[in-house]
Amino acid sequence: MEQRKKRYSFDTLAVHAARPVEEGTGDITPAIHVSTTYERDPDGQYRRGFNYVRDDNPNRAALESGISALEGADSAVAFSSGSAATLSLFQIATARGSIVATDSAYHGTLRQLRELVPTLGGEVRLIDTTSTADVQSVMDNSVALLFVETPSNPLLGVSDLSILAELARAHGAVLACDNTFATPVLQQPIAAGASLVVHSSTKYLGGHSDVMGGIVAGVAGEWMDELETLRSAAGAAPSPFDCWLLQRSLPTLPMRVRRQAASALSVAGYLAGHPRVSQVHYPGLETHPHNQLARRQMSAFGGMISFQVEGGREAAMGAAARVRLFTRATSLGGVESLIEHRASIEGPGTRTPDDLLRLSIGLETDEELIADLDQALA
Ligand code: PLP
Repeated sequence: MEQRKKRYSFDTLAVHAARPVEEGTGDITPAIHVSTTYERDPDGQYRRGFNYVRDDNPNRAALESGISALEGADSAVAFSSGSAATLSLFQIATARGSIVATDSAYHGTLRQLRELVPTLGGEVRLIDTTSTADVQSVMDNSVALLFVETPSNPLLGVSDLSILAELARAHGAVLACDNTFATPVLQQPIAAGASLVVHSSTKYLGGHSDVMGGIVAGVAGEWMDELETLRSAAGAAPSPFDCWLLQRSLPTLPMRVRRQAASALSVAGYLAGHPRVSQVHYPGLETHPHNQLARRQMSAFGGMISFQVEGGREAAMGAAARVRLFTRATSLGGVESLIEHRASIEGPGTRTPDDLLRLSIGLETDEELIADLDQALA
């Protein structure tokens, strides 16, 4: 498999990288290894590589190897959720210095940074990372981690990974990118200079709204070892079945994500011309403030769109109430299209506009999705 990883294209890797043929049995589809404990050799060693499920498991090892290959990383550490992955990263960063992070990131990540990290003694500065000047103005040698979510959830801001990687390096900091919205299909943060990539694998990596998980992929160095040690000690490990679901999902990731991105571009174009829509947040539109950067940094613009409806919260809620094909639900990245009034999910203190609806575009046809929005906005 090591040879394959180096030789094959991204799409071919996606099929094989997390699904090795089982040595003993020849299984093409991996087995689910449910054992919590493993036989020890007579001399006390564990030559087959596994000793206890919290520390490792064959499904998890294959998943990590696959994501690591797709992200162009040296290794990966899988967690029980995206939130467990981000908090572990913040915990390790806090022991080393302060954190600078995207101020418009996923609201759960912001909650960790505002409420949990300070209880660990961490210092956090939340800034607009789409502005290189703003990042430059806060970077100093006390910063251990520059954490960037791009595109960001839900406003689809795009931060410049290559420039931010240089800035981080110049101050001895590590750049980590939450790549959940773009996925490695559309954006390769490590190739752009980031050291770490984080995912909520609950989203596109899983792709079927049936698994919760998180993963950090990274270049060789202490952070990856520490993440693994922290996961073992704290226990935020994914179950074998959840890892197996992700192994099942990776072969179709490139197909799903490219189709979702193509449909999203078409839906965003439709929304941009609608008289009841005051603003569309989609980096693929020429009117988006970061369109040029997105064109350089991403191979397509992803399946997530946010838009604002004329008439405020009531008008937005009204449109969401009338959809027939979209489903009103939170989360994203599944095969089915979802619509969500984001501010009411994020709760008090949110900076998300009250008239904003977020769409996760699934695998239905773009014509039918547009027809549904058309009747809902009428
Ligand atoms: N990062 C992003 C961009 C997200 O959208 C989410 C969840 O929506 C998370 C992280 C957290 O992931 P999880 O829900 O798997 O804990």
